[in-house]
Amino acid sequence: MIYADYAATTPVSERVCSVLANATREVFGNPSSLHSVGHAAARLVDHAREQVADLLGCLPEEVFFTSGGTESDNHAVRIAADRRIVTSEIEHPAVLEAARHMSGQLDLIDTDPSGSASVSSLAHLLRDREVALVSLMYANNETGVVQPVREAAAAAHAVGALFHCDAVQGAGHVMPTVRELDCDLMSVSGHKLHAPKGIGVIYIRKDIVENVPALHYGGGQERGIRSGTLPVPLIAALGEACDEARERMHEDDRRVMHLRDAIEDELLTIRDSVRLGSGERMPGILDIAFSGVGGEALTLLCDLHGVAISAGSACHSGDLSPSRVLLSMGVSPELALSAIRISIGRYTTAEEAERIASTVRTCVALSLGSAV
Ligand code: PLP
Repeated sequence: MIYADYAATTPVSERVCSVLANATREVFGNPSSLHSVGHAAARLVDHAREQVADLLGCLPEEVFFTSGGTESDNHAVRIAADRRIVTSEIEHPAVLEAARHMSGQLDLIDTDPSGSASVSSLAHLLRDREVALVSLMYANNETGVVQPVREAAAAAHAVGALFHCDAVQGAGHVMPTVRELDCDLMSVSGHKLHAPKGIGVIYIRKDIVENVPALHYGGGQERGIRSGTLPVPLIAALGEACDEARERMHEDDRRVMHLRDAIEDELLTIRDSVRLGSGERMPGILDIAFSGVGGEALTLLCDLHGVAISAGSACHSGDLSPSRVLLSMGVSPELALSAIRISIGRYTTAEEAERIASTVRTCVALSLGSAV
């Protein structure tokens, strides 16, 4: 099976696996314990916190471990509970649904046809209103389109709002630091950067930490913000994944973008194919639609032919309605239902990229009942 669904999740790297296994076997102490078995675990956690901070470009004390992207997003939104929140139509449900449930008032930034949140729509929403939080993702998980995060942060700060960035699809790739993006809060998920599932981070800028409510109450771990015994092996694994990403990201991103562009060029020669999303995109993501072919059916057919891709976003699979991200870009419901997402990454080879393109072409032809 060729794996082309890196935006859904990534394989755990060998280096990370061995850190995970070692920490699980050898470092079982509770990092809160006073004895040396506990200290060994605490040292591992401290080291991992530094590794994450190095990747994000922040201080270790600004890194708080969570169970993943969803928890981090929910926590960021909770800071503005019952107040006005502005976010985009294209956010992941972890932000959008959290904001729907927790905000006092929710306003959504329009999307440009390119797949980018509209900066002028944001400016309009911020005019003459008291806003507690603006949240904009770094890159969209369906189209891969990189969002105007710096502009959104500046606009938020100009009206005294906090700024949160869901960087789940960006972290581990070449991405500006939290300082360069001027974020107050940022969400990261381990399993999108070759660490295991069930571990993530929320970055909280040091001067707002005092105002952040506890996610839940308990033993006061993570400076009271997220109580609960720390999952030391998962944290150590995430730290290692961040180090590995930092070492490899320039080379990996360059190579992966080259392969993605080759797949894209090949598939765009198919009649009535449309690429969805333009401008700066994440290097490994391609959202593409083949008019007259159902995206879900095409995904299943590709699976039978040995290639794992996604119809729309894997987080919503099972849901046959057209992607709301694509609809917000002005894509017709028919075309949106034809969309597939191919997402490649660190371990995709040139041969696999060729096979991905040829398999999708074959499956489009089978679906249409004619050569393409
Ligand atoms: N935010 C974005 C942009 C995502 O792509 C995802 C997962 O696909 C999440 C948040 C949720 O992250 P997790 O799976 O770690 O809960």
